[in-house]
Amino acid sequence: MSAGRRILILGIDGASWKIIDKMIEWGAMPYLKHLLSNGKIKRGPMHSTLPPMTPPAWTSIATGVNPGKHGVYGFHRIFKDKDGFRFHLMRPYDVGYPRIHEMLAMFKLKSIIINLPLTYPPWETLCKECTIINDWMAPELRIHPVHLEPKFKHYFTKGLEGHVLKSRSESSINAIADRAYTFAEGVLELMNTVDWDLLFVVFSEPDWIMHFNPDFVGGKKAGSELKVYSAIDDFLRKTYSIVDDIIMVSDHGFTVCNRLVNVPYFLKKYGLAEKTFQETLTIKFSNIEVPSWIIRFLRKHDKIKKIALSLASKLTRKATRTISIESTTHTIPYNEAKAIMPDAGIIYAAPNHEKEVLSVLERIPGIQSVLVGKEVYWGYNALKAPDYVLIPEEPYCIYTKSDTPFMDYNTNHHPIGLLGLGGDHVDEVWWRSSWNTWDVVPLALTLLKLPVPADTDGYYPGNIKRYNYYSRWNIAVRTRDIKRSH
Ligand SMILES: [Zn+2]
Repeated sequence: MSAGRRILILGIDGASWKIIDKMIEWGAMPYLKHLLSNGKIKRGPMHSTLPPMTPPAWTSIATGVNPGKHGVYGFHRIFKDKDGFRFHLMRPYDVGYPRIHEMLAMFKLKSIIINLPLTYPPWETLCKECTIINDWMAPELRIHPVHLEPKFKHYFTKGLEGHVLKSRSESSINAIADRAYTFAEGVLELMNTVDWDLLFVVFSEPDWIMHFNPDFVGGKKAGSELKVYSAIDDFLRKTYSIVDDIIMVSDHGFTVCNRLVNVPYFLKKYGLAEKTFQETLTIKFSNIEVPSWIIRFLRKHDKIKKIALSLASKLTRKATRTISIESTTHTIPYNEAKAIMPDAGIIYAAPNHEKEVLSVLERIPGIQSVLVGKEVYWGYNALKAPDYVLIPEEPYCIYTKSDTPFMDYNTNHHPIGLLGLGGDHVDEVWWRSSWNTWDVVPLALTLLKLPVPADTDGYYPGNIKRYNYYSRWNIAVRTRDIKRSH
């Protein structure tokens, strides 16, 4: 079966219209400028998940539901056991709701999914007909089906080292820009090689060049950064005429923070943690007990970067299907920490200490409000939600260091990203002028003439058909899990 239409979801990690407008003004995106000035693309702001973090936001974009239903709240999955916080890095099996390619597969439509967070290992998908290239946060980069690897893998493994360097030197940004061009070339080649109805590709490079780069995000300078956006503009020019519709989307925007508040420092200072979550990780991982996690961790935790880098390069060379992301979880006992902030802005409290934790959070400078997790998220996975979500007060951003209370002048994610819609059916589906992450699935499915999920959190007009993707998917997941456990 075919939809008779082909649509592209073009993911631009970390981009906002404010930044894109600057890129257009500086001449980096002439084709997008042409499309916008001719009214061929409609545009609006995209409200990210709370807090605006890459894994939950992309998962909401790919599922059409809020984190309370899909269960991805950050980079880590946290369990409250009897004696402590148990955790592991988020894995695809932790995603509690079908993603768009799995929905399409139920109607025999084919998807190409590239660099969507939480897609490793790609062959474990519930969409055997899909072509999937997993995201950069995984321990290795692989392609499903595997016979495509000899021809395509090199396009997607290039330049991953560029963004690891914290200084945003010209050479590191250049390496990232080269990667964006090679990556785009690989996507184009793949579009011409395999059958597809939906292509969902995420460019991570814009996010990488905006971290630790306040002069660029603040509009004060631009060198090789422009090349990264030019690579995306070039990709848009080459794909616009061969697809029926395009949804441009980002998971969050970026902002300059004049002041950053390190919440873990205050959790420690006010007696809620002997050792912070971040310090626990540093100690555990300097012993390198879990090699397959290393690549993901080296991107998040600077202290172990050096050891990890050399190990990681050895590992990727030897990478085979035997690399496992299953094996390891860790525990922080409650007597070492009554509260943890595993990722910026989300707090888990030890059982029966919620009130004490709240009163401490309210004393931390730079915090505008402390929201209760169960009121922010809704759905069958809301029980796993963080206890509290912190909203910073301008000009503060929330940061994760343990050894110093404040830092100055850096960048951070911003809750407003972008949505743009172009192609043949824009006027039929331009339902609203301001969008949420979970609006993308009903939008894309309608463009493909498929029903929308019965319990999506996204907007769609009342006359549109619905289908219970979740219950069908849930049966398939249970069958898969039984097989996996044998
Ligand atoms: Zn992101």
